[in-house]
Amino acid sequence: MITKSNNKYKVLLVEDEENIRTFVCALLEANGYQAIPAKSFGEAKLLYLSYIPDLVILDLGLPDRDGSALLSEIREKDTTPVIILSARGDEGEKVRLLDMGANDYITKPFGSAELLARVRTALRNSRPSAEEGKLPGGKFTLGELVIDYDSRRVFIGEAEIKFTQTEYNIMAYLSANPGKVMTYSSIIRTVWRESSDENSIKKLQVNMANIRKKLGAKPGEVGYVVNELGVGYRMGD
Ligand code: CA
Repeated sequence: MITKSNNKYKVLLVEDEENIRTFVCALLEANGYQAIPAKSFGEAKLLYLSYIPDLVILDLGLPDRDGSALLSEIREKDTTPVIILSARGDEGEKVRLLDMGANDYITKPFGSAELLARVRTALRNSRPSAEEGKLPGGKFTLGELVIDYDSRRVFIGEAEIKFTQTEYNIMAYLSANPGKVMTYSSIIRTVWRESSDENSIKKLQVNMANIRKKLGAKPGEVGYVVNELGVGYRMGD
């Protein structure tokens, strides 16, 4: 049972297709969450304001307005994690939504295990404890990986791994947003203060290949940094 101060996590599910809505609600309820179903933008907005959910799962194609409009409204004042549920496989659309502040996306059709894993990740990383790693002097840990923000050093177990300043800055940025897909353009903007184009994406990919190698990822293995093809990178999960 997943609990939060003796209460269940509240998940607002915005989806106009009844089959998917029923399936996801049953799945969430069976796994200890309180599911709040909404079938339109209007209904979702009202339910969001009255329930203040811990997480929003948001379909884009809604009958009254595009789901991305709800994401914009939520992001005007809240950091509530939002997972986009989309039939669209378009990378450009995913990037746009991640840059608008979505935490993650799931492309339909999806499996139960995948959905639940994304939900757990989004809720875990929204807890205040995940914020501690961002403070100066804090440490980020993921499995054997330790990033010491104070000394700007990275360890795997006891062994220190040497990174260039740029590589370290990329790692620090990804680890400050664990489990969240960071788009190419957001990483490039943060690390190089440049807008993204073909050259800067290439530069990022070269740095990332070095980071993955230093972290001991074998080709084809997932490792600590996950490559979300054509979209960006994610630290962990
Ligand atoms: Ca839809």
